[in-house]
Amino acid sequence: SKQNGRGQYSFFSSEMNERINARRRLAEDMRHSLAAGDFIVEYQPRFDTRARKIRSVEALVRWEHPERGRISPADFIPLAEQCGIITPLGEWVLRTACATAVNWEGVGVSVNVSPVQFHDPQFVEKVAACLQETGLPPHLLELEITEGVLLDDAARATETLEALKKLGLRLAMDDFGTGYSSLSYLRNFPFDVIKIDRSFVSDIATNQGARHIVQAILGLGRALGLSVTAEGVETNEQLTLLTADHCDEVQGFLLARPLRSSKIDELIVELSSQ
Ligand code: C2E
Ligand code: CA
Ligand code: CA
Ligand code: CA
Repeated sequence: SKQNGRGQYSFFSSEMNERINARRRLAEDMRHSLAAGDFIVEYQPRFDTRARKIRSVEALVRWEHPERGRISPADFIPLAEQCGIITPLGEWVLRTACATAVNWEGVGVSVNVSPVQFHDPQFVEKVAACLQETGLPPHLLELEITEGVLLDDAARATETLEALKKLGLRLAMDDFGTGYSSLSYLRNFPFDVIKIDRSFVSDIATNQGARHIVQAILGLGRALGLSVTAEGVETNEQLTLLTADHCDEVQGFLLARPLRSSKIDELIVELSSQ
């Protein structure tokens, strides 16, 4: 009945208001935390399977909320994208990562770029300024981009990607295999690296189909002259299979969790003295 409908409506709308208010508070907290230094960057090593050393590390942002403790990026990145904070936050991550990596001789750093940040008309200029101000050699910076950035305006995305390539950095297609038109994207955009999504990697030891898909992606990478990184390597069995299949780089909890920069310093020294 109508009455019921109205009752439900007002119930629903107050619940919705509550949710909107909670999100608004969280967005406010984010702004505050960015100024207060409550965000930190951790770095997860990517190992070169042939040279058996750290080729580069992936920068991953963490939020240490003053009252709620650590909040996962999976929970706050989408909100940061919706309220626009992702742009200053992403710039802070980029700058922090470049300024840190400049001390790791020859070890590169990769930084995740949100579609919102990518579509900032000044994005390329900002990346150029960051490289110049931190002194990081451009070939040591890699930007990890998901297929989402290529979806709405392919012509403009191409322009931006080409301009980024001109700066001398590397481009990785992140979460490869989870989207739906990745193949044409690889042909049409200037990527250097494919990162195979964890969902395939986690099944390779137990599922023939998953292994065949990974092998096909590795073949594709070879044919197109792209380096391939496997994400989310958690077991020795997975590592053995990926090495046997000539995967270029591996990343995952088996090898190293995301770590504070001081731990990366130690790890680099440790590995280079072996
Ligand atoms: P992603 O770019 O795919 O990053 C890899 C995620 O997998 C990270 O989660 C990492 O900690 C996790 N991981 C690495 N190895 C393993 C493993 O062996 N097993 C499992 N189960 N997980 C593994 P994290 O740090 O929670 O980040 C989640 C997502 O948040 C990232 O996924 C990325 O999309 C986003 N993100 C993180 N930092 C940033 C950032 O600075 N900017 C933007 N735009 N997005 C970010
Ligand atoms: Ca990534
Ligand atoms: Ca990924
Ligand atoms: Ca992901």
